[in-house]
Amino acid sequence: MILILRPNIDTEGAEYQHLISHLSRLQSIELRIHRERGVEQTLTEVYLIGNTAALSVEDMKNLPGVDHVVRVSEEYRILGRHKDDNRSSHFDYQGVRFSQDTLHVFAGLCAVDTPDNVEKMMRALRDNGQVCTRMGAYKPRTSPYSFQGHGKNCLPYVFELAGAYGIKIIAMEVTHESHLDEIGEALANARNATGVMLQIGTRNTQNFELLKSVGRQREFPVLLKRGFGITLEESLNAAEYLASEGNRKVVFGLRGMKSNLAAPHRNFVDFAHVPVVKRMTHMPVCIDPSHSVGSRSSGPEGILDIMHVTAQGVIAGANMILVDFHPDPDNALVDGLQALRLDELPGFLEDVRIAGEAYKQRLARLQRS
Ligand code: PEP
Ligand code: MN
Repeated sequence: MILILRPNIDTEGAEYQHLISHLSRLQSIELRIHRERGVEQTLTEVYLIGNTAALSVEDMKNLPGVDHVVRVSEEYRILGRHKDDNRSSHFDYQGVRFSQDTLHVFAGLCAVDTPDNVEKMMRALRDNGQVCTRMGAYKPRTSPYSFQGHGKNCLPYVFELAGAYGIKIIAMEVTHESHLDEIGEALANARNATGVMLQIGTRNTQNFELLKSVGRQREFPVLLKRGFGITLEESLNAAEYLASEGNRKVVFGLRGMKSNLAAPHRNFVDFAHVPVVKRMTHMPVCIDPSHSVGSRSSGPEGILDIMHVTAQGVIAGANMILVDFHPDPDNALVDGLQALRLDELPGFLEDVRIAGEAYKQRLARLQRS
């Protein structure tokens, strides 16, 4: 059970102290307190864990300082949607808002290769009004002999260039907890010219120790990618690991499921799950059309499959798009086959806008009927 307290409640004040001392006396109930400092207000939530079946929602609602009460089901206690659960669930990072009602494009390099390519990518983003990107520094590769990413060595120029081109957030995969310190240090050296959204890749969705480390820090939001060969429920539980450790700034990423039946696509596109994840949880949902489709094939009309599936995700309400671009895909060190060219960026963004408008029209139709 979650008691959501009045916004900005004074935790030094008598009312709060009273409430906590009353709750601590409840039999077989453990308290866990979570404070979330937003731009507009600070929210305090008290989690009651244990034998809460014996407690009445009405009684709890009448306690001093309590705004409302949510009885949670066992699953996804923090990130899940529960009955009568109208907890606000957006988060802001670097002045950018993430929620189930916003949409942001993170176009960029699958893997950072040269400073020149990073600069070309960022310039194209700035010229097209974009403030977010993706830049892989730590690359988990199938073969130990493949390029593994430049790691911390590329962070200084990636962050400096991001600052120079007005990029506010970079989605960047981490595969080990030491990468958090490396990123934090490089950002500080770059005078925090930009921000990072930590990405947990599909191969690490159930790396529970990594999830715990990433969940324990609350500075960086997290993009958790769905595991490619596990159930949706298992991936949602992985997201809950992050929240249970304290970080609930989590975006859930769909990136296709591994199956031979997906051929000729790289993975089976799973964007039909956009509304499913949105109704089961409060998380904004990201789609990754590049790792789903994996190639530059197009339909007979000439539209790339990557753009078709992007539109399919957006028209169903996706909130974020992670997509591979490269100034010179033929010479990219990772995933060049699925990278779009920089001259395709304006068209891609226009297609996203069209699909986004269609989604808004679908919502408006529902409100009229
Ligand atoms: C990536 O986004 O670069 C990546 C490796 O994705 P995934 O973990 O979905 O394979
Ligand atoms: Mn890739």
